[in-house]
Amino acid sequence: MSCICLPGPWECEYSYGGEADLHRHYTRCTKNPGHKNFIPVDKFCIEDLPEDYRDKVVINYIRAVSDLTVRVKVEYVSDKRPETVPGIRKSYPGYSFRGQRRATVGTGGVFSIKFSNEEEGQTCKCKVCRISSTPETNFAIITIHTATHVVFDDLEGEHTTCHLFFDRGGTPDACSGVVALTGMSRVLNEVIKDICLIEYHTHNLDLAHRLEKTIMEIHELMLHSYNQTPNMTKLKHCRSIQDRQPLLFMVSHPHGCSKQVSLGRWTSADVSNRLILSFQYSTSTCPGSSGARICVFPELSTKGVNLSTYTLFLPSLRAHCGASFMQLGESFGRVYEGQYAFLYL
Ligand SMILES: [Zn+2]
Ligand SMILES: [Zn+2]
Repeated sequence: MSCICLPGPWECEYSYGGEADLHRHYTRCTKNPGHKNFIPVDKFCIEDLPEDYRDKVVINYIRAVSDLTVRVKVEYVSDKRPETVPGIRKSYPGYSFRGQRRATVGTGGVFSIKFSNEEEGQTCKCKVCRISSTPETNFAIITIHTATHVVFDDLEGEHTTCHLFFDRGGTPDACSGVVALTGMSRVLNEVIKDICLIEYHTHNLDLAHRLEKTIMEIHELMLHSYNQTPNMTKLKHCRSIQDRQPLLFMVSHPHGCSKQVSLGRWTSADVSNRLILSFQYSTSTCPGSSGARICVFPELSTKGVNLSTYTLFLPSLRAHCGASFMQLGESFGRVYEGQYAFLYL
C-alpha cells in the first residue's frame, strides 16, 4: 500500500494566446490524444458508470460536484514563487516565469458559502465596496478551493477569474449561464499541503443560495451513500481485487476547455508525514486538471461536516496535484491524514 509520491509533473495548462491557444493544446494533446475516458459533463449519463455503481445517488452526486466545479484562470505569475518545493529538491512550477503575464489554467471547486450576519457588523469587501463609503452589509462569501501551485498568493489571486457552470461550448463567453468570479478579497494557501482557498465577496445572493443548495444536496447524498455501503461492500466481494477499490472520480477542465468527468479507482497511498497522505489513482487527468476536487464514492469521512454555523462547507480538501512519475497512467493527490477511511474498504 505504500509508494513514493513525488510531486509533479504538475497538471496546469499554460497559454500566451488566449482561449484559442487552449483549444490548440486540447486538440494536440500528447498525454491522452482523443481524451479517452473523459466524458463531457453535459453528455454524462448512468451508463458511463461501472455496472455496480449505476445508481441515481451516484449520478446525482457526480452532477452536484460538477455544479460546484470551476475553471481557474490566473493571468500573472507571482515573483514570490519559490525555486524548489519546500523540503524537496525539486523545481516549483512557475519559478522561471515569475513576473510574467503568462496565463495558468487549472480547476477548482466551491468549498464553502457564508452569508453576512448583520449582528457581526461586517461589510462587503468586493472590489466595488472596498472603495465605497457605504459598503454593502448584505452579502455572501464564496470560498473556492484549488491547489497552491495553481494560485500561489494574493497577487496571483488578484489576477484570477473563476468560471462557474462552464459546462459546454468552446469558451466561457460562448457558453450560456457561465458566471465569472473576479476581485477576490483574500487567498489562504499552504504550499506544503498544496491547498489554496480563495475568498470572493459577492452581492449575487441568488448565486450564493444556488451554490448553498448544491452543497446541502451533496451532504444529503453522502448520508444516503453511508446507508448504501453494506450493499456495495457485498458487491465488492464478487469483483477482482483491482475493482474492489472505491470509485474515484473527478470533474475538471482539461486544457482549460469545458468541464469533463473522468472515472477511475484509487490504486495506492503513502503517508509522507503525520499530516499529509498522498495517494494515487487511475482516473484520467490532463494539463488543466490540477486543483480539481478528488471525489471518492462512497465517501466515508464525515470530518469537517458542520451544519450548525453560518458557513456551509464540503467535508474534505483533496486536490489533484499531478501525474505520477512512478506509474504511467496514474495520478496523485493529497489529503489530510484522518480523512482516508475509504482506504480500508
Ligand atoms: Zn489532454
Ligand atoms: Zn460589495
